[in-house]
Amino acid sequence: MKVLVTGGVGYIGSHTCCELLNNGYDVVVVDNLSNSQRNVVKKIEKITGKKVIFYKGDVCDKNFLIKVFNEHKIDAVIHFAGYKAVGESVKKPLMYYHNNLISTISLLEIMSDFGCKKLVFSSSATVYGNPKKLPITEDFPLHTTNPYGTTKLMIESILKDLYVSDNEWSIAILRYFNPIGAHSSGLIGENPNGIPNNLMPYIVKVANKELKELSIFGSDYNTKDGTGVRDYIHVIDLAKGHIKAIQKVINDNGIDAYNLGTGKGYSVLEIVNTFEKVNNVKIPYKIVDRRAGDIDACYASTVKAKEMLNWSAEFEIEDMCRDAYNYVLKNKIK
Ligand code: NAD
Ligand code: UDP
Repeated sequence: MKVLVTGGVGYIGSHTCCELLNNGYDVVVVDNLSNSQRNVVKKIEKITGKKVIFYKGDVCDKNFLIKVFNEHKIDAVIHFAGYKAVGESVKKPLMYYHNNLISTISLLEIMSDFGCKKLVFSSSATVYGNPKKLPITEDFPLHTTNPYGTTKLMIESILKDLYVSDNEWSIAILRYFNPIGAHSSGLIGENPNGIPNNLMPYIVKVANKELKELSIFGSDYNTKDGTGVRDYIHVIDLAKGHIKAIQKVINDNGIDAYNLGTGKGYSVLEIVNTFEKVNNVKIPYKIVDRRAGDIDACYASTVKAKEMLNWSAEFEIEDMCRDAYNYVLKNKIK
């Protein structure tokens, strides 16, 4: 079984490639390296002892995709490729709509031409906007608050329309909550350029003394300690969810969306405290104003993924904090 992984050199894609290879799938990766490093391909091969077929290229480029599909009989696709920074998407909406939508439409057209109609798509919990109650189930109303989120919601609609037009398609839409952590080898992990926007990469840089202190965005939220609550999920658990989703799309037809989260919410202060404890480091912080657009709390109902995909997360928050820091220590990221 040969799986095409778009964006497979990136953070979630690289961990998913390892799980695919460890589960006996052949893997073809396409990535334009706009947010990743080529040496990750070698690291995936080192972790798994298996070969990765890698093409550098842009998923928006249909001729490039035709070449890949001509050279390999692809059975199913996992589509990670896309831009993902919320703040940047507000400043550069056209860049986000162009890359995320055109890449997906190009991919779907070429998949259709080659009769490959099995897809796992990376969506996000951001499509739930500010949920009215918790935990979030997949049938909650969908709305978005930034261009990045809107690209995900638009793609979900495109996929639903595509399935209505042709019932041979089999599509799993995965709505990720907050992926953190890294492979236990420390070879692959999350390494954003510049000053990170997300909590865990920021904490890791404070621990590594690259940044002085963490700014906690607000302590007056309607949560247990006033700081924002999120559902953090270990990237390895997330990667394993993709194996279950690939099995599902290979065996069944249809389209469905699944939350990939742990179902547990942790506050910013709980994350800071846990990180300090498991890694024996100090994370200096100050409380600052709320960040525009942030919500009080967000965590998943995990029932559907458990029932339909037979998947649930296994790692605890301590594992996530430990593995995130281990990646930095092993790579001495400066
Ligand atoms: P990432 O940036 O690490 O990986 C994305 C990869 O896609 C990168 O290697 C990048 O070079 C590549 N890419 C981007 N545009 C491309 C294009 N047009 N052609 C070819 N390659 C292209 O991001 P990630 O964290 O691994 O996220 C993967 C997917 O999951 C994204 O679609 C993202 O929106 C989604 N997602 C991520 C999170 C998160 O917190 N990390 C949460 C929810 C959803
Ligand atoms: N957060 C914070 N300081 C930071 C980055 C994030 O206090 O430097 C908080 C943010 O307000 C939210 C939580 O940490 O409550 C998770 O934020 P992140 O950006 O990682 O994920 P998202 O907001 O997209 O769920």
